[in-house]
Amino acid sequence: MSDAVRVCICTPEAVPFAKTGGLADVAGALPRPLAEAGCDVRVVLPGYRAIERERYGFRPVGGAEVPTAFGAVPVQFLESRLPASQVPVYLVACDRFFDRPGLYGEGGSDYPDNLERFTVFCRGVLALLRHLRWPPHVLHCQDWQTALLPVWLRVEPREDLLANTATLLTVHNLAYQGLFPAEQFPVTGLGWDLFTPRGLEFYGRVNLLKGGLVFADLLSTVSEQYAREIQTPEFGCGLEGVLRERAGDLLGILNGVDYSAWDPAVDRHIAARYTADDLSGKRTCKADLQRTQGLAEDGAAPLIGMITRLVDQKGLDLVAAILDAILAAGAQFVLLGTGEPRYHALFERLHRRFPQHVAVTLGFDDALAHRIEAGADIFLMPSRYEPSGLNQLYSLRYGTVPVVRRTGGLADTIVDATPEALARGDANGFVFEQYSPDACLDAVRRAIAMFRDPRAWRQLQQTGMRQDFSWGRSARRYLDAYRLAARARVGTRG
Ligand code: ADP
Repeated sequence: MSDAVRVCICTPEAVPFAKTGGLADVAGALPRPLAEAGCDVRVVLPGYRAIERERYGFRPVGGAEVPTAFGAVPVQFLESRLPASQVPVYLVACDRFFDRPGLYGEGGSDYPDNLERFTVFCRGVLALLRHLRWPPHVLHCQDWQTALLPVWLRVEPREDLLANTATLLTVHNLAYQGLFPAEQFPVTGLGWDLFTPRGLEFYGRVNLLKGGLVFADLLSTVSEQYAREIQTPEFGCGLEGVLRERAGDLLGILNGVDYSAWDPAVDRHIAARYTADDLSGKRTCKADLQRTQGLAEDGAAPLIGMITRLVDQKGLDLVAAILDAILAAGAQFVLLGTGEPRYHALFERLHRRFPQHVAVTLGFDDALAHRIEAGADIFLMPSRYEPSGLNQLYSLRYGTVPVVRRTGGLADTIVDATPEALARGDANGFVFEQYSPDACLDAVRRAIAMFRDPRAWRQLQQTGMRQDFSWGRSARRYLDAYRLAARARVGTRG
């Protein structure tokens, strides 16, 4: 076996196989630059029904019976490669748990047996590593769905193969913790001695993410600002105490962008291609978006875009509160999103009130997401909190100027267009501080005013388009994290 760093990325979703949010972009994009840097990296995810096995060339490579507290569960392993790479990707398949329409639930409700489902997945990951006889130096776990792995690897006796494997747990969104009723705790296979506030108990319930935060060798989250924020009561979702205790083991590593998928110079989804030096294609993209979305075809109207999960986190109440004023300022609004039914109803209502000025698509549509990035002038992200955020980074590359609230990864990446920042040449968007309709509207109005000054606007667009948020930098930081985690593991072995 070579002496390259061996990393197994365990994840509940990864592009292009299965995606509900930014985590999938990370899990699908990070492995390539890691492999280019000489890392022996492999990815494992559940074999959901949504994954097109034939299209992606998955073939069976064995199986196992995984032991669980609710009996032995047969799982099958399938293998393929991450597209355009040599990175092996494995599915842990089990029809009983993963042959369903949704990843985590249906019709807005979680599957009631999610604890069983992700226990089986995590046991399946360990069985797969044994089956492959491939001991990673680091198991890189993502979010609550994989958070049992660091717990088991710390508290259960280890066989030789995984004796030296360290764990890094990356938190993509602290609000999703994997909470289950106390009586389900035995499903995890852990003893009741771990169901305490120092272990996986959280106000009388099972909290998988907490277990991972307590027992992983190293922790990370997806921006430096969010790493600081989650140690406070405002953003810590009740876990700020655990996170403060582990502050010395918590890194902030910003997500990168996969520019082979998200760059208007090469994007096949959009009506015309363009670059920072020649933005003429962006006008074509805007006209195309207006036409296909049923908006008045007007190049002079500032077109504001949003692509988002429709959940409280994303600041949609602010949008609803200021939409009239935005339209009164002459702007148009285009939204693509899916999520909570009440937001579906809200945006349907707004579309019916302003059919020529508000376009709404309720669903998940990757091609349309690209066309909105290219066709809009302004991209709105008024999030309550935003661990990293990818859409503001895509927007920068598409010359679509972000208007964001100063939180998490938005704070780390968007520089407000103050006179000083404009003079320095590093302004790339508009930032507001307070979570209030007035503050948000003020930022949108500043953006609209600058949009009407073509030279100033061009400069803002070009500054963003020339910035580089590719994965190379983040991948180097993850490599450092893997080395740190491996050293931390050696330190705690016993
Ligand atoms: P989050 O992870 O909180 O959902 P991010 O901005 O980090 O937010 O990532 C969201 C990702 O999901 C982006 O790639 C975005 O384009 C995509 N996305 C979100 N909603 C939709 C949708 N309805 N259709 C297509 N893509 C979407």
